[in-house]
Amino acid sequence: MAQPRILILGAPGAGKGTQSANIVEEFDVEHVTTGDALRSNKEMDISDMDTEYDTPGEYMDKGELVPDEVVNAIVDEALSQADGFVLDGYPRNLEQAEELEGMTDLDVVLYLDVSEEELVHRLTGRRLDPETGEIYHVEYNPPEDPEVEDRLEQREDDTEETVRERLRVYRENTEPVIDYYDDRGELELIDGERAPNEVWDDVKATIEDAA
Ligand code: AMP
Repeated sequence: MAQPRILILGAPGAGKGTQSANIVEEFDVEHVTTGDALRSNKEMDISDMDTEYDTPGEYMDKGELVPDEVVNAIVDEALSQADGFVLDGYPRNLEQAEELEGMTDLDVVLYLDVSEEELVHRLTGRRLDPETGEIYHVEYNPPEDPEVEDRLEQREDDTEETVRERLRVYRENTEPVIDYYDDRGELELIDGERAPNEVWDDVKATIEDAA
């Protein structure tokens, strides 16, 4: 089969990043993620776009969505250069879903389903090793090496207040996107509230079936 074009949907903290990394390794596709792309361009000057704030970072630190115009351009460029891909973090509203429709066809749309209580717990406990990029959790997956533990950092938008706002934005803007694909019979529902390797078995089998 040609390399699959995969969309992975789910709330912040649902495990999209973890499962996308598995998908990249198994299916040899590109990981296209708007969150990482925007984090590398937090200071980009977008003042000529008639937006409320002058940089993506200002939206991100508040837990708000970066304007569609900025994000659509990033995704369009990335997808045009990829054969197969796993798209993660986009679309986050119906306008973006319609925009995506014009950019590419998808082979499979995965949705990682996780309860809100579990999402808050996962996100506020998430820590990053700035030296290796490895992701840990204070309770579920703490580092064994005390030196690593000492240098762990929290993502700026993983504080409780911003997490609550991100989840509110998710419910308001992104849940309709889940319904959009569901109504078209394209959504593959995956129970994301299990151990990462159990979720992965399901994700892998679903992609193999669909592609
Ligand atoms: P993430 O790493 O996917 O949780 O994204 C972090 C932040 O980047 C979000 O809270 C938004 O501010 C911004 N962002 C990422 N993807 C999008 C998108 N598709 N549309 C608008 N803003 C986005």
